Amino acid sequence: MTITRRLALAAGFLAAAALPAFAQGDYPSKPITMIVPFAAGGPTDTIARIVGENMSKTLGQQIVVENVAGAGGTTGATRGKDAANDGYTIMMGHMGTHAASVALYPNLAYDPTTDFAPVGLAAGTPVLILARKDFPAETLAEFIEVAKKEGAALNNANAGVGSVSHVSCLFFNALTGAKPTEIPYKGTGPALNDLIAGQVDYLCDQIVNAAPQIQAGTIKAYAIGIPERSPALPDVPTSAEAGLPDWQVQAWNAIFAPAGTDPAIVAKLSAALDTALDDETVQKRLLELGSVIPEKNLRTSDGLGAHVKSEIAKWSPIIKESGVTVGN
Ligand code: ASP
Repeated sequence: MTITRRLALAAGFLAAAALPAFAQGDYPSKPITMIVPFAAGGPTDTIARIVGENMSKTLGQQIVVENVAGAGGTTGATRGKDAANDGYTIMMGHMGTHAASVALYPNLAYDPTTDFAPVGLAAGTPVLILARKDFPAETLAEFIEVAKKEGAALNNANAGVGSVSHVSCLFFNALTGAKPTEIPYKGTGPALNDLIAGQVDYLCDQIVNAAPQIQAGTIKAYAIGIPERSPALPDVPTSAEAGLPDWQVQAWNAIFAPAGTDPAIVAKLSAALDTALDDETVQKRLLELGSVIPEKNLRTSDGLGAHVKSEIAKWSPIIKESGVTVGN
């Protein structure tokens, strides 16, 4: 090959490498994959589908949900971090994958504060203490009594180490002295199904998906971990009303792109998220499921970036105190 030919080829490669930068204006020109790090049918999946559907309309391209479950959501989050940072793979993370996991996994494959370009908060999701409908306790106080007495005989479902359901029940168990047997699932969609079927005794989970079941009486809710009752579940007492004021768990779901994604692309995604969260139909669906619609400033990259940092600072000491880590 002649030098000129080699130079021509090299120039061609350079032009091809620079292409995405020139093509940003057209973004998105093909479908976008949104990784959900849990099984279908759980809160993260539901929020991703509700918000993603509206964002697809704004962006003019389909957002396709891909469920990549495992290791409390950290498998999917790792996939999200390693994806090409061209805006065509984003993920729906949450309080577990992007905050609690930091203290739980000493060798976590990613740093939530530096390995992602935050897009924005998609939903606030209060957490509830739930039990199978025939559990022999009517109030939280009675439930705590039974849980302490029964110890490992009780089955506590969760979505794996570091998930919201794991961390919030870990917190509950640490506050009350409950020592259940933990039953991990690939997400709280399947965990909730088993709670409804009476296969497990209790679950701490994000309000989404649990709300319709509580309303239908297929499961019991003892308390919600926020200062005020949820308008979606006005009969469920707050943890303070139920006698456990320290159990405060306001979880959340949020969209992240891999670090290094062009800020113009991130801004486009944040704007589409903002539009989705202002949409009446989206708001209605999220509110019916008990979600809290994020404030405008949290629907931005900077707002979510700051939120992630403060959530890591909040959860790390609680988890360290519980003494639980995973040897990965
Ligand atoms: N809510 C779940 C959790 O416990 C995950 C899911 O959305 O399925 O983290």
